[in-house]
Amino acid sequence: MLDFVQLEEDLDQEERMIRDTAREFVEEHVKPDIGQHYEEGTFPKEVIPKMGELGFYAPNLEGYGSPNVSETAYGILMQELEACDSGLRSMASVQGALVMYPIHAYGSEEQKEEWLPKLGEGEAVGCFGLTEPEHGSNPSAMETRAERSEQGYVLNGSKTWITNSPIADVAVVWARDTSAENNPVRGFLVETDRDGVTTNKIDDKLSLRASITGEISLNNVEVPEENVLPGVSGMKGPLSCLTQARYGIAWGAVGAARDCFEVAREYATDREQFDQPIAKFQMQQDKLAEMATQISLAQLLAYRLAELKEDGRMTPAHVSMAKRNNVRMARNQSRIAREMLGGNGITTDYSPMRHMQNLETVYTYEGTHDIHTLILGEELTGFQAYV
Ligand SMILES: Cc1cc2nc3c(=O)[nH]c(=O)nc-3n(C[C@H](O)[C@H](O)[C@H](O)COP(=O)(O)OP(=O)(O)OC[C@H]3O[C@@H](n4cnc5c(N)ncnc54)[C@H](O)[C@@H]3O)c2cc1C
Repeated sequence: MLDFVQLEEDLDQEERMIRDTAREFVEEHVKPDIGQHYEEGTFPKEVIPKMGELGFYAPNLEGYGSPNVSETAYGILMQELEACDSGLRSMASVQGALVMYPIHAYGSEEQKEEWLPKLGEGEAVGCFGLTEPEHGSNPSAMETRAERSEQGYVLNGSKTWITNSPIADVAVVWARDTSAENNPVRGFLVETDRDGVTTNKIDDKLSLRASITGEISLNNVEVPEENVLPGVSGMKGPLSCLTQARYGIAWGAVGAARDCFEVAREYATDREQFDQPIAKFQMQQDKLAEMATQISLAQLLAYRLAELKEDGRMTPAHVSMAKRNNVRMARNQSRIAREMLGGNGITTDYSPMRHMQNLETVYTYEGTHDIHTLILGEELTGFQAYV
């Protein structure tokens, strides 16, 4: 596996173990059928508890059954999962960073005890409802409302593009509390079997096909007071979850690019034209040299981000730079890898085009490339250019 500047030599024993466990899991349980799942638009649901058993959901959290591994170990895990498919990494990211993290950071003791072990073991599936049909890049304009009632709250609204909503047991739904001053955004744990909740699947995707995506419609859904996340109010709630997930994406994208590189390198060595392996031609070597360089630079950024996160010095702007750069890098390099495979490169027999299509989603979700540009622009100039 490409590790040109030998970053993996510095991994500690636990980090190596997590890397190897994830690689073996992917090789044995997902890789053989991922092309077929992609074609059929299905997720291999049988691996959900297996991933829990192996500790793939938020292992960087502390307590409630979570081993509190290093941020590097968590990053490497995301890298290995996405080297297989962005849909597989999305499963772990949503469950860990977008569902378990907010419960861990902002939940009551009862909420933590009820949900964290189940989610961590993959006995329950969670989803994260922020995006709405009319509000994607600007979630603070959300229209979903929570109104106080005698028992708690009544929720109304709709969320869309929600990873795993059709198979979720619980949704972390972000809604404006209309009964409080200034209508702050609050987080609600909404069990999906509550009256008034529907979670239709979105079927016509051309990207991230091996991942289940859906809507969440909330029609006079009653939730008790105990289902509100008590520890946060305002946009800080969802945005802090996105920072966690984007951290994993910055690592994951490197995995997708690395897999494209490995497939292209092997293909170029085997494939002969003009009676010689195509790897012998300078133009193909140029592509591999550039790919290896770009992947190594992105890896360096991811490893540094892990150090900053471990020390509590990582800022949202650091994460924006890494998500923006590494996903763009992977998107560009996957296209080059696909190109090196000629006609065979457009089939599901080889991973680069699948990665390339997946990366269109990764480029768009968790803050589009443009939005991360604006976050960095604001950080660097002090001026907001969103509006
Ligand atoms: C497969 C998939 C899974 C997803 N999973 C989840 C999930 O689990 N939970 C969840 O809540 N959401 C999820 N999302 C939603 C995702 O986060 C949004 O699609 C994303 O935030 C972009 O929002 P939008 O699609 O409404 O695009 P828009 O916000 O409408 O943007 C359209 C275009 O306009 C650009 N743009 C917007 N504002 C500006 C500006 N101020 N300046 C310059 N350009 C701008 C954008 O960069 C983009 O190119 C998922 C999306 C996909 C595709």
